[in-house]
Amino acid sequence: MAVQYEYILIRYGELTTKGKNRKDFINLLFQNTKQALKSFPELEYRKTRDRMYIDLHGAEQEGVITRLKTVFGIHSFSLAVKCEPIIESIQTTALEVVNMDRTPRTFKVDTKRSDKTFPLKSMEISRAVAGHVLSNTEHLTVDVRKPEYLLQVEVRHDAAYVMGRTEKGAGGYPVGVAGKGLLMLSGGIDSPVAGYLTMKRGVKLEMIHFASPPYTSEQAQQKVHDLTQKLAAYAQPIKVHTVPFTHLQVTINQHVKSSLNMTVMRRMMYRVAEGVAKKNNCLILTNGESIGQVASQTLHSMNVINAAISTPVIRPVATMDKLEIIDVAKKIDTYDISIRPFEDCCTIFTPKSPATRPTLADVESEEARFDWEPLVQKCIDETESIMIYHHEEETSEFSDLF
Ligand code: ATP
Ligand code: MG
Repeated sequence: MAVQYEYILIRYGELTTKGKNRKDFINLLFQNTKQALKSFPELEYRKTRDRMYIDLHGAEQEGVITRLKTVFGIHSFSLAVKCEPIIESIQTTALEVVNMDRTPRTFKVDTKRSDKTFPLKSMEISRAVAGHVLSNTEHLTVDVRKPEYLLQVEVRHDAAYVMGRTEKGAGGYPVGVAGKGLLMLSGGIDSPVAGYLTMKRGVKLEMIHFASPPYTSEQAQQKVHDLTQKLAAYAQPIKVHTVPFTHLQVTINQHVKSSLNMTVMRRMMYRVAEGVAKKNNCLILTNGESIGQVASQTLHSMNVINAAISTPVIRPVATMDKLEIIDVAKKIDTYDISIRPFEDCCTIFTPKSPATRPTLADVESEEARFDWEPLVQKCIDETESIMIYHHEEETSEFSDLF
């Protein structure tokens, strides 16, 4: 029977630089990896200071690889076959692995020998294996400096491992290691990308969405649901808070002059978001604002809007071009959902000429025209929350369990 990969060796990402927190990082990564691979119960896991190993036990390999690529904190991983720790067996296995992957034109063998009683030294093992591969294949050459394919051999006392196919991991930090943040999730292109980038830095996310029915539709809500489900591939479940924003928004519209309407509305959104963040132990807000993209995202507007709250606001796409943002959105598969044509609460009340240089004094005097505090509080109190899982069937109404 043709050889099959049996193990996956996982290399940790940036964790190496984190000194004393290393243990927490590794434990969390271990936990997140198991969670991501929950649908493969046959897998067996083992972790050491600098590696993690998964025994596939015959699990469907491509499925496991696809899921592993969504785990932040993994730098790369390689697939491996186990064989007897004798040179003939290593050579045969190495050849089978090369033939199985069939990709390379140039290769290199690297050997690590932890069993120092093995009769050959690392270099000699590499040479013997490379020689065997070369004389049993066509069109293959050795390139020690820039090989297309790296064949890695690890010789231990009880067994030898031959690693072939290597995949890039998702990088970043394990989700949760940095604490929790609240993503302002619209149905647009930018905020899901901001969410992805924030999670990549190890921040566990909850979502907040402002809905203004009947001005906003069921389908707009569905977009948020579907976008969250995509992001839940990186860490699930994700809690989504939906704010009933209609009353506050209509009231703003009635009292505030049209040019400052948008600025005031965004200050109110920030206030509600800050309240929901505090209630749910989220340490930061994060959103998809990008410098200069629209009137509310000029530096003047950002100043006045940001002044409404004291919670830090992280804007991962602030300096990115729209095209760069779209590239990421396509990569994480949120783009097609984002471009579905349903209005969100911002677009519906957009004034014809919103101020691009609002001043705090002007905005505060507009806000003084109505008693907004109880309305903000009501939004916070009446926010509804649900849990969303990567897999649709598991999504449930929010319960006290969480
Ligand atoms: P996006 O593409 O993310 O919708 P945008 O370029 O359309 O962003 P705005 O509509 O001005 O920009 O919104 C800026 C940011 O404010 C969004 O990226 C998002 O984080 C947040 N936001 C806007 N509308 C909502 C909403 N209805 N609910 C939650 N957050 C929102
Ligand atoms: Mg938008």
